[in-house]
Amino acid sequence: MSEYDVLIVGAGHAGAQAAIQLRQMGFEGSVAMLGDEKEPPYERPPLSKEYLAGDKSFDRILIRPHAFWSERKVDLLLGRRVHKVDAASKTVTTSNDEVIGYDKLIWATGGTPRLLTCAGSDASGIYSVRRRDDVDAIMAHLPEVGHVVVIGGGYIGLEAAAVLTKLGKSVTLLEALDRVLARVAGAELSQFYEAEHRAHGVDLRTKTLVDCIESTDGRATAVLLADGTRIAADMVIVGIGIIPETGPLIAAGASGGNGVDVDAFCRTSLPDIYAVGDCAAHSNGFASGAQIRLESVQNANDQAKVAVQHILGQENEYDAVPWFWSNQYDLKLQTVGLSTGYDHTIVRGDPATRSFSVLYLKGGKLIALDCVNMIKDYVQGRAHVVSGATLDQAQLADASIPLKEVGLA
Ligand code: FAD
Repeated sequence: MSEYDVLIVGAGHAGAQAAIQLRQMGFEGSVAMLGDEKEPPYERPPLSKEYLAGDKSFDRILIRPHAFWSERKVDLLLGRRVHKVDAASKTVTTSNDEVIGYDKLIWATGGTPRLLTCAGSDASGIYSVRRRDDVDAIMAHLPEVGHVVVIGGGYIGLEAAAVLTKLGKSVTLLEALDRVLARVAGAELSQFYEAEHRAHGVDLRTKTLVDCIESTDGRATAVLLADGTRIAADMVIVGIGIIPETGPLIAAGASGGNGVDVDAFCRTSLPDIYAVGDCAAHSNGFASGAQIRLESVQNANDQAKVAVQHILGQENEYDAVPWFWSNQYDLKLQTVGLSTGYDHTIVRGDPATRSFSVLYLKGGKLIALDCVNMIKDYVQGRAHVVSGATLDQAQLADASIPLKEVGLA
């Protein structure tokens, strides 16, 4: 039986950062990173952006070059899944029936795309966008495709729609709620992006429910809507969220529900087992302490650092400011803070110029910003989100006053 001082399960953003951090902090023990994909860790955001567009090759989205991991003595155990964790014997069992021992376990398994469950959803030609394999399959199919139906108006669906439009495909985007980005942003931002997509030729429909998928010879050919409308499709892309990958940990007795619960040091309720990244439910100070999961590179990297610091005897609680980005067409959105629970918004600048910010306030305090082609607001707004001060709202709304110069109310 092989055994590691630190075993990392999941070779994505959080897993990679954990391994990097261990070596950066001088840890000399044995480290392995085990993942079910066959590739070494790569950046996932380009999958719906530059990689799908064909603007970046796979080698350019690797988190580190191939040689890095062997040079740092990080064993990569790829192409296998952990399906059992035994916290008492401190072992995991893999899909290859290997039993691997650990002293500390870092669970960094991300999530699996939520799939359609309606009739016909097992047809071929229906894709998620989570892994390199998904996108390679989409790209291989694309030359035969004229019309794509994208289901889901979150960031991934919108980014895919933007790229596919740029690639000359005709795109219909279906969103069940009354606006896109409804779970993550205010109505002002949703309306702006809906208008942008429509201006680029996307047939974007909100309040639209999918009834079933029609297929011919096992391949999807149309999406049928609940109101009876039939939309022909050569390809269907589904971006309706993820389910955190926590099964083996929960089965081993870890507490959790939507994700595995962790404390401020990313410890699960099981001894010597940490969880980080998309799968970790934590109390977040930027969400008034609510137990949430964040699906972002920022969170994956910062939680990995906190867990590793704790393993190496440094107790630094996780309190990083959330940030995120999304690229659609020539629009660069950068967000900072969490807008959950806002009671007031301020639009700074004119959306018609395609350069503006939406500011989210709660009880007079600036809690988050969504900045579209407005890097200055993104950079300067961050300090206000962190300070939690109550600011002068008239000045906040005046785009001629730099955010760093806005005074207190
Ligand atoms: P992942 O990166 O998903 O890594 C988890 C790994 O664990 C995967 O390889 C998975 O296959 C593997 N695994 C799962 N279960 C097991 C098991 N039992 N055994 C072994 N291995 C297992 N974030 C941003 O901040 N900005 C963006 O613009 C952005 N764009 C995105 C675009 C797309 C298309 C996607 C899919 C995500 C995007 N994200 C973005 C989110 C970001 O990529 C994730 O938050 C980040 O990848 C989370 O890192 P993670 O390590 O927790 O999970």
